[in-house]
Order: sequence, then structure tokens, then C-alpha cells
Amino acid sequence: MLLSKLFIPILKNNPSEAKIKSHQLMLRVGMIKQASAGIYSWLPLGFKVMKKIEEIVRQEQNKIGAQEILMPTIQSSEIWKESGRYEDYGEEMLRIKDRQKREMLYGPTNEEQVTEIFRSSLKSYKSLPQLLYHIQWKFRDEIRPRFGIMRGREFYMKDAYSFDVSDEEAFYSYNKFFLSYLRTFKRLSLTAIPMAADTGPIGGNLSHEFIILADTGESKIFTDKRIFDLNSNETELEKNSLQQMRKKYEQYYSVTDEKFNKEEFEKVVSEENRLITKGIEVGHIFYFGDKYSKAMSASIDLPGGKKDFVKMGSYGIGVSRLVGAIIEAKYDDKNEIMKWPLSVAPYDIALVPMINKNDTLALEKAMNISKELIKNNMDVLIDDTEENFSSKIKKMNLIGAPYQIIIGKKSEGDLLEFKEIGKETQNLSLINIIEFIKKQKNTN
Ligand code: ATP
Ligand code: MG
Repeated sequence: MLLSKLFIPILKNNPSEAKIKSHQLMLRVGMIKQASAGIYSWLPLGFKVMKKIEEIVRQEQNKIGAQEILMPTIQSSEIWKESGRYEDYGEEMLRIKDRQKREMLYGPTNEEQVTEIFRSSLKSYKSLPQLLYHIQWKFRDEIRPRFGIMRGREFYMKDAYSFDVSDEEAFYSYNKFFLSYLRTFKRLSLTAIPMAADTGPIGGNLSHEFIILADTGESKIFTDKRIFDLNSNETELEKNSLQQMRKKYEQYYSVTDEKFNKEEFEKVVSEENRLITKGIEVGHIFYFGDKYSKAMSASIDLPGGKKDFVKMGSYGIGVSRLVGAIIEAKYDDKNEIMKWPLSVAPYDIALVPMINKNDTLALEKAMNISKELIKNNMDVLIDDTEENFSSKIKKMNLIGAPYQIIIGKKSEGDLLEFKEIGKETQNLSLINIIEFIKKQKNTN
């Protein structure tokens, strides 16, 4: 892609309306454009990043055996009346009437819709467990939309739902999602910590929020620091080992303010291990048993001929919020350098030829290098503008491709001036650069 052709409305300075660095950067490099309060259009750079995050989320859902579906954004009020949430949800729900005066709504979440699909499709314990997910826009008329897409009114969410025959089986499903969340956030190069959470309007009694640390986060958290050293390398989805994995995390005190209890915190966490800070919620998982299946009569036939309500859980990831969360974690706003993890970077590598008037040699060299990189499945951004060198680099640092090749005096013959963003330059041959980046991609 040529920079001159990229639709990227870059601003010279930070927009004054943005209070946190992710919102600043996203407006500054034209990743998004506000349409109205809490509602955004996604422009090429931002959309690319979000799509890459979505794909990682999808792959990790598929790996635990979840099946992708797509439910609509607009739902009928009938099913919400059955569950009792039509009244409970209050003003956060956007309610609409169609031309027949039927009450519809823009889905804030999909427990009712998926329960309706389940109850009219499956009847036997033999078809369980079922793990279904979709990645779809949601609307919540948040009282205070802010921080750009971090707390939007319209936002993109992956929500999954599990259906099981018993509590025990349902905990197994829960643990599969627990693991898949740890894996997902790791691939996004984020340290997301599972924390015991309140269930809020979703209901139920087992729940974890996945939180990344950030000063600008809206959740206050209280943890035992040692939880940050844990790692999960489970490769098999074996019942007991998944149970052990969750226990390993649950042995450390780690909660958000809703569940915080000062006395307990001080009793179970020694002073040197206490950490009180702020974080961003990027995912949330719930187990709520038969809360919806009972209200909506979603039952299954058990082996002995008995019937029971199917046991359900739900599992959300804020896909659009993650774009902001990654920026909060990786943007060096003092030096104005965005370090996208390679797994979600809008471009793998930027080529910066120093172009003087009427001298197209450096640009030609860049075009040739780009051909090789593209052959090796790399996504390349070429700065073909005639701006001065320092403003070119400034721009590329904001866009944040993890690697840069600078084609000027120092790139002579076979050796190219190569840079990992924010680090010192090295002189490497193109073959070595390709090998290096490929290796980085494979560890992801
Ligand atoms: P919050 O506490 O931040 O309001 P929530 O608990 O209401 O979130 P859930 O119902 O758990 O949200 O939704 C699952 C995920 O969707 C959240 O973990 C978060 O990442 C994302 N999310 C929720 N609300 C928003 C929003 N207004 N804008 C962007 N992402 C959101
Ligand atoms: Mg939540």
C-alpha cells in the first residue's frame, strides 16, 4: 500500500476532546471517526486492526470447539419479556417500533435470542455440550459514553453461550472459555488477569472479568501480585487439568471493587503482595445455570427419560474495546511511538525511502523490496511522499508498523537500514529481514 493513497486523515496535534491516549491516537491517525456520541465509523487503519483482533478471537473460540453463528442486531421484545429482562434492562436498551408497531430492540447482549434458538432446535442430552458464539455489533445506551471506542454505545463484541446437561459439565465448558480467554489475550500480547466478579444484570453466581492494567481503566482492582506470574500452557482440553488451571488462578486474591472486602484482602494477602490499581475490562464470563432456560422453557431430555432445564453460561469479549486497550498498553505517548504487536499490526513493515525531487531511485528500490516482502506474505506500507525525513518517521511511528526499512544513505547495496520500531537501527540483508520477521510471526 502506498501511503499517498491510504485513506488516513492524520492530524498534526492531539485532538483536544480526547482524554486518554488510545482515544488521542485513534483520532490522530484517523483510525475512527465519530458519527455521534459513542458511535463511530471505522476507517481503514482502525478497521484493519479490529479485523485482526476479531480473527484471533475467532480462532481461539474454534480451538475449544465453539461453533460460529450470526444472530441479528435487532431482536423482538417478546423473548425479553419471557426472560423478564425487558423491564429490568432499563434505559440502556435502545427500543424501536417497526411499522406494525411491534416492539423491537437493538440487542445489548444475546442470552434470550440464543436460548430461543436452542429450545426450538435441540431436545436431547446427546447433542450436548453445545458451545455457540457470534461476533456482532451491540448497542447499549450508556449514560456516559466516553474514551472513544472504549466505552461506546455501539460496540463490537464476541459473545459465546454454552449449553450443558449438568452443573459439572457446565463448569467444564466454563473452564474451556477461561483457557481460551487466557490464550486469546496472550496472542494479543496483553496480560489479562481473571478476577472474581459480580454478575450484574446477567445474573448467576460464578463469574470472572478479564482485566488488563491501565491507569486510565474504569475498574478498580485489588490483587495479589503473584497472579501476574502465572502462565497457562494447557494444550489438551482435559477436564481435570482445566479445573486445576482455574484453581491455580483462584488461589490468589484478585477482585474488582464490587467484590472487594478490605478485611479479607488484608487477611489473605501479605502486605508486600498487595496491589491496588486500575484496569480495563476486556472480557467477562458468567455461569448462570438455568436462569434463562427456566424462564424461557428450554429443557432437554435426560438419559432416564426425565427432563431438565439446560444449564447455560455466557462469555463476552469486547473486540472493539480491545483496539483501545492494546493502544493503552503499547502506546508510548511521550515519544509518540505506537508499538502494535505483530499479531494485530495494521501493517507488518513500513518502507521509508528518502525521496528527493526528480530522483526516483530510492522509491524504485522500495517498490522492489516491497515485491519480495509481499511474496513472503507481508503487509507493506510504502511512504511514497516527498515530505522531509523526520516528518516521515514521525508519521510511521504513529501508524506503528512494528518494523521499518529506511532507504537512504545508510541502505547501500545489499545491506538495508532496518529498525524494530522504537529501537536502534541495524544493517541487515533483505533475506535476513524476511527470515527475522517470519520467525516473529511464527511465535505468535
Ligand atoms: P462494563 O463494566 O465495562 O460496562 P459490562 O460488564 O457491562 O462492561 P459485559 O456485559 O460483561 O460488559 O460485556 C462483555 C464485554 O464487552 C466487556 O468485557 C467489554 O470488554 C465489552 N463492553 C461492554 N460494554 C462496552 C461498551 N460500552 N463499549 C465497548 N465495549 C464494551
Ligand atoms: Mg462485564
